[in-house]
Amino acid sequence: MNVAALHTHAAAIRNAPTWRAAGLRYFSYNYYLRKLYGRRIHKVSIDAGFTCPNVDGTVTTGGCVFCDNRSFSPSRRLPRTSIAGQIEEGIKRIKTRYKVDDFIAYFQPATNTYAPVTKLRRLYEEALAAPKVVGLAVGTRPDCVPADVLDLVSELAERTYVSLEYGMQTMHDRSLDWMNRGHRHASFLDAVARSRGRGFEICAHLILGVPGESHDDMLATARELARLNVDAVKLHNLYAVKDTPLADQVAAGRVQLMELDDYVRTVVDILEILPPTMIVERVSGESPPNYHVGPAWCLDKPALRAALEAEFTRRSTYQGRLA
Ligand code: SF4
Repeated sequence: MNVAALHTHAAAIRNAPTWRAAGLRYFSYNYYLRKLYGRRIHKVSIDAGFTCPNVDGTVTTGGCVFCDNRSFSPSRRLPRTSIAGQIEEGIKRIKTRYKVDDFIAYFQPATNTYAPVTKLRRLYEEALAAPKVVGLAVGTRPDCVPADVLDLVSELAERTYVSLEYGMQTMHDRSLDWMNRGHRHASFLDAVARSRGRGFEICAHLILGVPGESHDDMLATARELARLNVDAVKLHNLYAVKDTPLADQVAAGRVQLMELDDYVRTVVDILEILPPTMIVERVSGESPPNYHVGPAWCLDKPALRAALEAEFTRRSTYQGRLA
C-alpha cells in the first residue's frame, strides 16, 4: 500500500470505527494497527540517548517528580548500540514472545525531539531504514516541538506512518507544577494546534492519580481531551520507580498512590467520555519490576485488564457512550 492509500485507510478506520462490532470495549491500538496493516504490528523501543530540557536546566532541573530515565525502556538497561542494532535486538526479544513480523520504531525514553533537526533527521531516517520497520513513533514534551521539528515530522509522514506522542498528563496547571513538568497546559494546546492536520497522528499521554486531583478533576481532563479530539491517548496511573523524588514522597507517606479499584473505575469513566474515534494506545503503565516501587498492582497487567473488562461488563458500557 502506498502512503497516500495508507493515510486514507487510517482516516477511514478512525472515522468509522468498527471495534464495537468486533466485540471490543474500546478502540485499542492493537485493533487499529491490525486494521491498518492487515497484520499484527508491534512497537520496538529505541533509546537514542536524548536528554530533556526539564533535566539539563534549559527549562528547569531535576526533571518530572516521577521521572527516572532508566525505567523508560528495556533498552536503557543494555549497553547503548546503534539505532539499527537496537532495533535488531528489540525485534529478536519481541519475537520470542509474539508472532509479529513488522514494527513501528518507537523513540521512547527522554525527550525525543530535543536536538537540532539535522540530528533528528539522521536518527529517524536510520530507524526507518531498518528492515521490518513500517512506521515511526516519537515521544516528546509539548514545549519541545519548534516549527522545523514539526516540518520534519510532517515530511516523514508523507512517506510512512508517524505518531507524535505528547506528554499532556493533565489539564490542571497546579498538577503540572506539582510534577515539576516545567510547562503548563497552554503548551499542550499550542503543540496540538501547530501539529493538527500535518499528516501524522497526535497522541496524548495522561497520568491518573496525581495527588490533589479529585475524580472530577480527572474527568475534566478527559473532557478537555475529548474537546481537542486528538487521534490517540495513552492512560496510566501515577506509579513510583526507585531513585525519584516521587519514590521518596511515597516512602515518607506524603503521597498515596491510586488503588486498583479506583483506577479501574476512573479509566472506564474516562473512556466513556472520550470519543469512539480516539485510539486508545494504552490503559496501564509499565516499569521494570526491579525499579518499581509501587503500586504493586500495576505490574500485573493481565489482572488489570481483567478488572477493566469486568467493570465494562458490570456497567454494560464502552468507550464513547457519554461522548
Ligand atoms: S519531560 Fe519526560 S524525560 Fe523530561 S523529566 Fe519529564 S518525564 Fe523525564
